[in-house]
Amino acid sequence: MKYVVKLRNVRKSFGKTQALRSVSFDVYEGEIFGLIGPNGAGKTTTLRIISTLVRHDEGYVNVLGYELPKYKDYVRGKIAYLPEDARLYGRLTGWENLLYFAMIYSKDKEEAIRMAKLGAEISGLSPTDLHRKTSEYSKGMARRVAVARALMTKAPLVILDEPTTGLDVFSSYNIRKIIKKYAKELKVTIILSSHNILEIQYLCDRIALIDKGKILAVGTPEEILEQAKASNLEEAFIKLVGDSYE
Ligand code: ATP
Repeated sequence: MKYVVKLRNVRKSFGKTQALRSVSFDVYEGEIFGLIGPNGAGKTTTLRIISTLVRHDEGYVNVLGYELPKYKDYVRGKIAYLPEDARLYGRLTGWENLLYFAMIYSKDKEEAIRMAKLGAEISGLSPTDLHRKTSEYSKGMARRVAVARALMTKAPLVILDEPTTGLDVFSSYNIRKIIKKYAKELKVTIILSSHNILEIQYLCDRIALIDKGKILAVGTPEEILEQAKASNLEEAFIKLVGDSYE
């Protein structure tokens, strides 16, 4: 299978804090890959390294066939990264936010308009809402536009850091539906992080469980259950993370 991301024994420290102690996994073309782990486990650091925003200290990182950090400028142009605290321009409408971002990613105005229209469709917001200033949006509406902004680019690799954190049950459900539907329709590879086991189970083809900067398990949900000798993912995670505290 063709891999889009390959990480081997990646390490990263911030001062005395060892954020990543040993991170290795592959992400294959066309899959939704989930990184799950407790607070401070190293999820954001891993995603920022893949997104070319942070340089790793040791180990091997390859994204879309190009080694980092050497080819970071090329890779940066090929990925869409949605940070956990992604903001919209509050003084612009939802549509204008999409169009503004589309113009950065497009070679001409026609392409930008086509891309923004796809973004509007992905967001699922009504035309009336799309033409309101985003400062008036609920968190759920804003996140829909932010996720649409990442997906509409059809970048071969889309990275979503905790796309549903802070949202209520209904808004989270809508965001998950959007990700699942458009990942397949647009044929993009997605890496996302989450604390939510149900979310990971619903969305992801394969999962990596990370804790204290180390990968504890990687595989399909079934493989992880087998590895942990557990009957459901929650039990598997508690067993594997619990083991790492002993
Ligand atoms: P959360 O679920 O809380 O967002 P996370 O799994 O994304 O956590 P990271 O944000 O990657 O975890 O953090 C891993 C560790 O590295 C933490 O101890 C964190 O405090 C530390 N860390 C991350 N970024 C920095 C930074 N820029 N400077 C100093 N320490 C950092």
